[in-house]
Amino acid sequence: MKSFKILTFGCQMNEHDSEKLAGILKAEGYRESERLEDAGLVLLNTCSIREKAEQKFYSALGKLRELKEQNPSMKIAVSGCIAQQEGNSVLKRAPYVDVLFGNQNIGRLPSLLEDSGQPASTEFPEGYEHAVISASRENAVTSFVNIMYGCDNFCTYCVVPFVRGRERSRRPGDIVREIEELVKSGCREVTLLGQNVNSYGPVDRHQGAGHDDAGRPVSGASEDICNFPELLKEINTIGGLCRIRFVTSHPKDLSDSLIDAMANLPKVCNAIHLPLQSASDSVLGCMNRKYTFADYMEKLNRLKASVPDLAVSTDIIAGFPGETEDDFRATLEAIEDIRYDGIFAFKYSRRPMTAALKLPGHLPEKVKDERLYKVLEVQDKIMQEKIGARVGLVEEVLVEGPDKLSRGAIHCARRLAGKTRQGKIVNFEGPPELVGQLVQIKITEGKKHSLIGVLI
Ligand code: SF4
Repeated sequence: MKSFKILTFGCQMNEHDSEKLAGILKAEGYRESERLEDAGLVLLNTCSIREKAEQKFYSALGKLRELKEQNPSMKIAVSGCIAQQEGNSVLKRAPYVDVLFGNQNIGRLPSLLEDSGQPASTEFPEGYEHAVISASRENAVTSFVNIMYGCDNFCTYCVVPFVRGRERSRRPGDIVREIEELVKSGCREVTLLGQNVNSYGPVDRHQGAGHDDAGRPVSGASEDICNFPELLKEINTIGGLCRIRFVTSHPKDLSDSLIDAMANLPKVCNAIHLPLQSASDSVLGCMNRKYTFADYMEKLNRLKASVPDLAVSTDIIAGFPGETEDDFRATLEAIEDIRYDGIFAFKYSRRPMTAALKLPGHLPEKVKDERLYKVLEVQDKIMQEKIGARVGLVEEVLVEGPDKLSRGAIHCARRLAGKTRQGKIVNFEGPPELVGQLVQIKITEGKKHSLIGVLI
């Protein structure tokens, strides 16, 4: 039997793309292999958001070359953002790669495998955002669902608009139908994915909104949905679904109606990822973020006032070109004031095609490292305090499955894991029948990145 192994690098968007790739391969009769060495096809789904991710990919590719030398029948495929960005130059550098294709060509995987050895497939086919691809999801209880692809924002450090293309929203009817199907197979929570979900809005409403791909009307999908809060309202009505999350929200497009939706729709969780990147207006300007720190704070304060017990996470870039000591201090102070529940912090990384490459004032690696270290140090302390503050509370937890330690270990099969509405991981003891249910858990202990509790 044909077998495959997928190695995924990068963000949730890539994780979900890998689920789609696995779904396609399983439909073609492949089975998923536990070990890389046993796989007839190894697929690297790559990320190019930072230089480090790219280095990781090339190092993995080097190891695969050795495996392929021992097993020449093994096929190697490369997909994702590096495939899109580098195209045929990956094939030149690594001629042992059999198939290479960009994110928008995922649906062509079977034919590409049949016809391996061809040049890179990096074109943007018309209507690719409407293709319905059945994903093979690892967890039945929580699922990622794309609502849009690409980005129009062109932040000066970011390669996404170049590798994932311009913004394209899926039809609301297709999204609702996908979630209804997921709920039928046990899904209780969806995370809606888009580079900037706040700007969701089908551009071809009159051709397809509220209809499936064959043009048939789709039950439960309103013809009138034209923005993200309206989409949330529609998804909120899906019976059997308990929770809705979404990522990522661009602060410039965070509207009053989204704040209202978060405050009033019972299934929308009290958690938001709102990337700040920097608290210095001059750095934000150079990043082309299109908001000031004051704009950001004004929206965040409105959100916090409207959504009780809101968890907020963010992205921070340390050492952007031209960032002065004062700029950096402003960012550290903002982190201390806002007290985020989580931060994805990275040092600035040069990315091909991006405008920031040409900005003056690129900083030495040592300075970027030191600044990143300070951000992480400050945030670690805040995280511990925030986690500790949950001890003693009773939290609603959606049970997702066995906890990490129990997976595959019979002796501790009663250890379960789930998430609070804020998105914090909770581990507790309970029977496996609870998987997929909402339970009340009294939090008894805070760990570094998770909580421990007892079932009430
Ligand atoms: S909003 Fe900016 S950072 Fe986010 S994907 Fe688009 S260009 Fe990149």
